[in-house]
Amino acid sequence: MSQSKAPFAPVAPGGTIGILGGGQLGRMLAMAAARLGLKAHVYSDEEDAPAFQVCDAHTFARYDDEAALAKFAASCDAITFEFENVPSATTALLSKARATNPNARALAITQERFEEKTFVSGLGLKTAAFAAVSSRDDIAGAFAKIGAPAVLKTRRLGYDGKGQAKVASAQEVARAFGTFKGAPAILEEFIIFDFEASVVAARSASGDFAAYDPVENVHEHHILRRSIVPARLSAAQIEDAKSIARKTADALDYVGVLAVELFVTKDGQLLVNEIAPRVHNSGHWTLEACITSQFENHIRAIAGWPLGSIERHADAVMENIIGEEAADWKALAAKGGALHLYGKSQIRPGRKMGHITWLKPKSAR
Ligand code: AMP
Repeated sequence: MSQSKAPFAPVAPGGTIGILGGGQLGRMLAMAAARLGLKAHVYSDEEDAPAFQVCDAHTFARYDDEAALAKFAASCDAITFEFENVPSATTALLSKARATNPNARALAITQERFEEKTFVSGLGLKTAAFAAVSSRDDIAGAFAKIGAPAVLKTRRLGYDGKGQAKVASAQEVARAFGTFKGAPAILEEFIIFDFEASVVAARSASGDFAAYDPVENVHEHHILRRSIVPARLSAAQIEDAKSIARKTADALDYVGVLAVELFVTKDGQLLVNEIAPRVHNSGHWTLEACITSQFENHIRAIAGWPLGSIERHADAVMENIIGEEAADWKALAAKGGALHLYGKSQIRPGRKMGHITWLKPKSAR
């Protein structure tokens, strides 16, 4: 099934974790590694990557620069990613040199929405109804299967609502498909959900699994605005969400942290929307509200360490600081929550610049 590997030798303190990608996720991973006495070597194709500011070594090079990748790999004891759209040739090159997680299969499946939904439904998990639209010839059949309203999405490289269009007729599907310039697409049933939720979970090299409490997510303009824990879910739904994450992680022979994004329907069903094979924005609250954060557990897993406790000791609300909201840093600093600023040199509309987590004593729920 998967290219299962024997548990690798744990990386001892003083060893180096390679992180591909230098955004805020890479930055928080590097900081978590430092807490455990591990060094981080960050590789990014951005010259002023935020993670470069907090690591022991960095490489600024393209993700297809084989010489730079080989040199990077040689300097690391274990390698991971902060983003899912890593070219498969890059993953292949790195994983030949060093233990690299999440594995190539997990990345390949989660990079492609049709593969991902097919995989998820193959596990017996629920998703919105979906159909492939690989060419114009598929449009009529796909629309007949899914009906209106529906969402047409590119299969690759969509994020924060990019490469998506809500459609109500086969003509609208054709129009939206045209704007994707021939990129293969997937047509999905449009779900009228009650709210969105996600579950962040960790799986170790020896197969131990732990899922954080699921959170409720609020999006604005397709960008995560806030995550709230506990979510408005029953005990049975919480168990259901955690078991969805477990089934997914086990089936992928996954090592590291992953997030499963869910739609919670009015009749209480949990539908899988997406799997993120990495630490996730909706898990940032774990830095303050849990004994071991998602970042530390990711580092522990990919370094071959045992997982840390995911016990939650507070209720939390995490709010993203987006675009211009970061300009008045003095006001943000005076707000009182746990402030994180990502060290990004430029404010751009829609750009995640930081976040604040608010804690409250843990409720009974
Ligand atoms: P995605 O890029 O698939 O994560 O989608 C981004 C956002 O678009 C989701 O968080 C939802 O708010 C919305 N969305 C995506 N797919 C659907 C769907 N099938 N039905 C309703 N809303 C959707």
